[in-house]
Amino acid sequence: MSTRSDGSLRRVRVRVDGTVQGVGYRPFVYRLAGELGIAGWVLNDERGVLVEAEGPAGAVEAFVARLRSDAPALADVRDIAAEPVPLLGAPGFQIVASERGGAATAPVTPDSATCADCLAELADPADRRHRYPFTNCTNCGPRFTIVEGIPYDRPLTTMAGFAMCDACRAEYDDPADRRFHAQPNACPACGPQVRLLERDGEPVADVDDPLRAAADDLLAGRIVAVKGLGGYHLACRADDEQAVAALRARKHREDRPFALLVADVDAARRLVELDAAEEALLTSRARPIVLARRLGDADVAPSVAPGAPELGLMLPYTPLHELLATDAGVPLVFTSGNLSDEPIAFDDDDARERLSRIADRFLVHDRPIATRTDDSVVRVVRERPLLLRRSRGYVPVSLDLPIAAPEHLLGVGAEQKNAFCVAKDARAWCSHHIGDLKNYETLQSLEHGIAHFERLFEVTPQVVVHDLHPDYLSTRYALGREDVTLLSVQHHHAHLAATLAEHGETGPAVGAIFDGTGYGTDGTVWGGEILVGGLDRIARSGRLRPIRLPGGERAIHEPWRMACAWLTDMQVALPPAFADIVQQRWNMVARMSLQGTGSPFTSSIGRLFDAVAAICGVRLEVTYEGQGAIEFEALADRAAADPYPLEFEHRGEAVALDPRPMILAMLDDIAAGVPVSAISARFHAGLARATADVLVLVAERQQLQLAVLSGGVFQNRLLLELTVEALDAAGLRVLVPEQLAPNDGQIAFGQVAVAAARLAGGRPPG
Ligand SMILES: [Zn+2]
Ligand SMILES: [Zn+2]
Ligand SMILES: [Zn+2]
Repeated sequence: MSTRSDGSLRRVRVRVDGTVQGVGYRPFVYRLAGELGIAGWVLNDERGVLVEAEGPAGAVEAFVARLRSDAPALADVRDIAAEPVPLLGAPGFQIVASERGGAATAPVTPDSATCADCLAELADPADRRHRYPFTNCTNCGPRFTIVEGIPYDRPLTTMAGFAMCDACRAEYDDPADRRFHAQPNACPACGPQVRLLERDGEPVADVDDPLRAAADDLLAGRIVAVKGLGGYHLACRADDEQAVAALRARKHREDRPFALLVADVDAARRLVELDAAEEALLTSRARPIVLARRLGDADVAPSVAPGAPELGLMLPYTPLHELLATDAGVPLVFTSGNLSDEPIAFDDDDARERLSRIADRFLVHDRPIATRTDDSVVRVVRERPLLLRRSRGYVPVSLDLPIAAPEHLLGVGAEQKNAFCVAKDARAWCSHHIGDLKNYETLQSLEHGIAHFERLFEVTPQVVVHDLHPDYLSTRYALGREDVTLLSVQHHHAHLAATLAEHGETGPAVGAIFDGTGYGTDGTVWGGEILVGGLDRIARSGRLRPIRLPGGERAIHEPWRMACAWLTDMQVALPPAFADIVQQRWNMVARMSLQGTGSPFTSSIGRLFDAVAAICGVRLEVTYEGQGAIEFEALADRAAADPYPLEFEHRGEAVALDPRPMILAMLDDIAAGVPVSAISARFHAGLARATADVLVLVAERQQLQLAVLSGGVFQNRLLLELTVEALDAAGLRVLVPEQLAPNDGQIAFGQVAVAAARLAGGRPPG
């Protein structure tokens, strides 16, 4: 556009790309046009928003600038392009009905926490939405969890069954109203209702206000199943050991920490230390569970998070949760509604069946949940968010692929913490958290989720990408797809690629990919890999010295087996920490690790953590994968960080990290009575230094400037911080996952990024 600011008339057509539908963008444009005296129209189409604006040149220029700078809270304007068109001279500004047809790329947005305006109505006794738990507007409310198809319009959401009353309809139709085209718009007269039920499904007698009654139940120590946005939660008061212990026992959840719901930031501050980044995440519209360091005097029952130095907290993200948390007035355990490893319940009948043995009562409502969506989990590392689970509040925001996909792609992900990913052109949509694909329910959830995303984003996969592991249920699902080309991507390559791609990089880079277990190209179990390469291919430049995994999978639940494998390899006898393990069992496992029976080789750093945590007596057996490592990290006293020695073994071009000198030094410390807090710190410092050293060595040899750290082991804050610091100091540019989790939640995106690069011949576009 010209910079003339005279009074001559101009008309422009403006294309606005990005997340601009279902976020109040058109009413914003309408109001802006009114303010600046602009004539024309605005409409939604499949690409985003299209505007024509006519008026004095200066006003039109200001109008176009403010289309970006003043956009509504939930909008994400990616691109604005204006071109001059002939003057029409027609007065007034209109919102024109949506155009249909063509490619649907206008994005569905994530669910967003209740806005301040809606909260004010909720709290106002004079407002018609006073205490109405489904209050929302174009600036907040349910989105992804209620969407059944596109375009995003009420008939294609789970609000379809609720006809708006006249008052709501008037808001919905009024361009000047905050609820103009707010698809889930509702009020007590016409919208969804809550009910409080006994565990047998009968309504609780004499209840006027089910929310207040549910809060009273919680205060009385009862366990209440609460139907929320993406599924059911199980709630009880967090300061009542009897209630929390009962919940743990009934849920068959042994030690894994429970998340908490607190009413506001002040309540959170009474339980945990919060820095600015943590507070920002806690109060963000996504409202994830934020892991933060618990205060010594935090008033929570011991069973909430046994042995954990952090508590996982979230703030209310719907009016229902707002009212419940405020009415209860105490922190609540708010954990997913399921039995240990099952997926979270979201269907009412299924929830009643599965949760009636756990919950005393049910707080339910009659708005169906379209897609099961777990709470997201995040922790702050080096003032940046590190997502541990990307789901509600983040999904389905798309990620850009650095190399566009020449065909439609589907990445089916890994086995644990599964999420899948669909992609076309340069955009990829990573799914909500599906979970561990251990049972029929999660597999079904994967299949439904894929079908839903294919519809939502109009992706018809021509290429399906899977892990090399032949037994993963995700691999078997991929192999069962008809009329598609199959591609396989090695697990750790997918970790590296996902991290590069989310930062818009294609490589080459040197990466340390540390995780539990992944299938290697040589049929052994990888998990401590130094890789060099980019999206299209990798080479293995180093690894942890391989050791037997005695009894395969069993070693994951019995970390003492890994300790036994290392100590046997080092010809060290049964140390005192293992008094609980009978000599006979020890000898048997030692024999397995020498002979290799049912014990594949592994280079897994996750399993090394298991071994050292066991050697220090932290955990000989665990109830969930990585428990020993998490507790071992928690014990570390950061002040005592004289690193243990870790040696490199050079074999040609490849380097092997040999932890045996470190284990020996650790055994000496144990014998000398050095506390585990110091041993843990020295271990972390030693591993971080060795990792950085080997990355720097390989980077120098191959003349690389870019380093990548990823894999589930890097959920360990201490290890990640120390390693990044050392690499920074060495002058390497370091990429770590930010938009996706470092664990297997990122695998599908990596699979898709690799496939796109390979199909495109490894060349960036243009
Ligand atoms: Zn609102
Ligand atoms: Zn209404
Ligand atoms: Zn992995």
